[in-house]
Amino acid sequence: MIASVQTVRTTCPYCGVGCGIEVEHDEAGKIAIAGDPRHPANFGRLCSKGITLGETLGLEGRLLHPVFNGQRVDWPAAIDAVAEGFKRAIHRHGPDAVAFYVSGQLLTEDYYVANKLMKGFIGAANIDTNSRLCMASAVAGHRRAFGSDSVPGCYEDLDQADLVVLVGSNLAWCHPILFDRLSRARTRRGTRVVVIDPRRTATCEIADLHLPLAPGSDVLLFNGLLAYLAGNSALDRRFIAEHCSGFTDALSMARADAPDMAALAAGTGLKADDIARFFTWFAATAKTVSVFSQGVNQSLQGTDKVNAILNCHLATGRIGRPGMGPFSVTGQPNAMGGREAGGLANQLAAHMGFEDDAIARLARFWRAPNLARREGLKAVDMFRAVADGRIKAIWIMATNPAVSLPEADLVRRGLETCEFVVVSDCVAETDTARYAHVLLPAAAWGEKDGTVTNSERRISRQRRFIEPPGEARPDWWIVTQVARHMGWAEQFPYEQPSEIFREHAALSAYENNRTRAFDIGGLAEIGDDDYADLEPLQWPAPEKEVSTKRLFADGWFTTADRRARFISVAQTTSPGDSDRDFPLVLNTGRVRDQWHTMTRTGKSPSLASHDPEPFVEIDPDDAERCGVRNNGLARITNKHGEMIARVRISEKQRPGSLFVPIHWTDRFSNKSLVSRLVPGRTDPISGQPDSKNARVRIAPFASTWSGFAISRRPLRPSGVDYWCRRAAERSFVYELAGENFPASLGDWANDMLGGSDGNLVSYRDTARGAWRWAKLQGDRLEACLFVSQGKELPGRDWLSALFRAETIDASARRALLSGVAPTAETDDGQIICACFGVGLKKLMTVIEAQNLASVEAIGKVLRAGTNCGSCLPELKELLRHEQQNAA
Ligand code: SF4
Repeated sequence: MIASVQTVRTTCPYCGVGCGIEVEHDEAGKIAIAGDPRHPANFGRLCSKGITLGETLGLEGRLLHPVFNGQRVDWPAAIDAVAEGFKRAIHRHGPDAVAFYVSGQLLTEDYYVANKLMKGFIGAANIDTNSRLCMASAVAGHRRAFGSDSVPGCYEDLDQADLVVLVGSNLAWCHPILFDRLSRARTRRGTRVVVIDPRRTATCEIADLHLPLAPGSDVLLFNGLLAYLAGNSALDRRFIAEHCSGFTDALSMARADAPDMAALAAGTGLKADDIARFFTWFAATAKTVSVFSQGVNQSLQGTDKVNAILNCHLATGRIGRPGMGPFSVTGQPNAMGGREAGGLANQLAAHMGFEDDAIARLARFWRAPNLARREGLKAVDMFRAVADGRIKAIWIMATNPAVSLPEADLVRRGLETCEFVVVSDCVAETDTARYAHVLLPAAAWGEKDGTVTNSERRISRQRRFIEPPGEARPDWWIVTQVARHMGWAEQFPYEQPSEIFREHAALSAYENNRTRAFDIGGLAEIGDDDYADLEPLQWPAPEKEVSTKRLFADGWFTTADRRARFISVAQTTSPGDSDRDFPLVLNTGRVRDQWHTMTRTGKSPSLASHDPEPFVEIDPDDAERCGVRNNGLARITNKHGEMIARVRISEKQRPGSLFVPIHWTDRFSNKSLVSRLVPGRTDPISGQPDSKNARVRIAPFASTWSGFAISRRPLRPSGVDYWCRRAAERSFVYELAGENFPASLGDWANDMLGGSDGNLVSYRDTARGAWRWAKLQGDRLEACLFVSQGKELPGRDWLSALFRAETIDASARRALLSGVAPTAETDDGQIICACFGVGLKKLMTVIEAQNLASVEAIGKVLRAGTNCGSCLPELKELLRHEQQNAA
């Protein structure tokens, strides 16, 4: 039983920064979230997502009981159904006919048992993690160069570097606390920052140089850098000679690939002067960190891009020493832990590959004579195998592949026809859950215990602070029960996560002898109390109380000859669809305040207010050429599918490219799923999808009407061609549009607002093409609906605010259908500061009126930017614009 009032130290469940969190909760169940000042990843700071975690803990939408074939069942029946379903498929079609698709949201202990069951006892390696979609190229690049999937550096290096190169990384939005650390270091010591990204992202606010390279041309740029370093006496020849192999070949290929500046400029689309400046800075700055992320990894040449970056660091010996090194930052909270536990189909466990000696070693350790002997199917191939019937049974844990995988429609068709689909999730209705034969209620963040590993190899505890609701159970428990039911009770004896962790730690040290960097043998005998109190530490930790900040400084790598390998790489032309009908490149990514498929962040009104609607960013000339207007809707299509999004014309967007965020699913919009358009092409080495390079076209969405609805209860929009939903305080806001006007308007409005209960009041102005309805129960506003055939619709803020109160007063009731506040309340516009709810219009008004010239001055007047700091890049950009306008 958990004590009723206490502070629990745990870890944020969102990105790979892995911030420490302190959760305080009182007897009434009130929860307060704050950054953990003792955690070395964040020292007490949290970004907008972390700080609003408390808004996402409600039970609405939770899956609370096991379900089998649409009927609620108890756990024994559910476990029996899963075990029998898998046994049946294995018996009829062999072990390669079954698969697990797991997630970077799982804890290491969950991963460990799932991997052990599939690879060790089912005897196939068809277990892959959704980390395949964000990190697989970094893993493959590390393994090629270092012999193991090891990130050499740590966050402190960002504090200590003199030059930080951010490649394909919008750190400001995707890893905000690292961005904050870097910004502070820059203020303190003048760190130079170079951003290499086709888009001008929020991260560019601190860039001394932005290189908007042509999409996919990173290998060429870094080959050019390697050749420059060699030609300008900037190599560490001793390090290369004593600790590396393959340098001569890699340099020859780099020189052939990038023979001169003209070729480089032509191939990357960059100005020669900018390239030269970057090369000069890199060559002259010993303390250089190169941070890379999805912009590098999610590519047909992702692994080569990684190795092109690593080559430059090896060539200068800048690795594993304070303030220098290549640094892959991960997307998910436990992408690293999953890799350590064997969550990738092409690795076994504890960073072992499918070599004969590793297979024999693991079989001995697990007492698993049936251990898988070859690599399994990687994510995209796994779901192709589901679609073509080779996979007969699949278990999907804590992830939403119907949304996140490329060619989402193909994935959905596969799941629809698959003989046996099991989904464990904490959310009842996801785009994937609808295909499940068995639904298993998993414990959510805050309800389970275990460990996660962040981007700097730091293992931290995630600790339970609330009891799982209903019949929800931790994932490790669910997998353990199924394994026992399948006949392996002796090998799956676990009653608590600490037992699993000890076994995982022991395996990492088993017959290791410094052949594998991942070694946490010092924790193999950790007691339950010490596990409960475990402080964050970085692996390797081969001895008790050892934690390792950096790797490879001694020139000792985990290859067979202990030398790092230079990999010869050359830029290849992207084989993107060459169809003239699809002339634009579609880039995908994240927004500041949402996470993955919004199952958690989508519940938070504060987070929803920053980017409330799916959007497409487009360069002004492209917009004019394609006939789309700012703030209108557009249809984006290619041969795989189509989507609709709100247009944002922006000079930050590279000509010829579009940007669309990944977050909107069928639960939040009927037509905004971008993965429908992403082709299933993958990097041949890493298997990571080419998610930033789909070919598309864009055209205006020809709506004849638009509108919005606000309702206390979720609505089921029908008769509309486009809708999207966002959370507001005590209500949901829907944006609506249609190509054809509803035939029977009154009936349609009635349906939209959820039936005939309550008092429906309406207003219409046929001449202006305006129709409005509001549904009341006494003085309580239940829902409202505004439709226009023209361009005029009132703002949503005042109407939305009416739902915060239980009842509305007479003046609000009179003004209701005008949509305009009876008093002089103003619409603050798009929320920029989520912590204090400060909108764009208010910021602009106050900046101008009070002549504010710094973010500190804004903070003093409006408090914006003074809490989590996630909005600081936007505040700086706003100030810059205001100053330019004034000039
Ligand atoms: Fe969570 Fe934000 Fe920290 Fe990432 S940066 S771990 S999302 S608080």
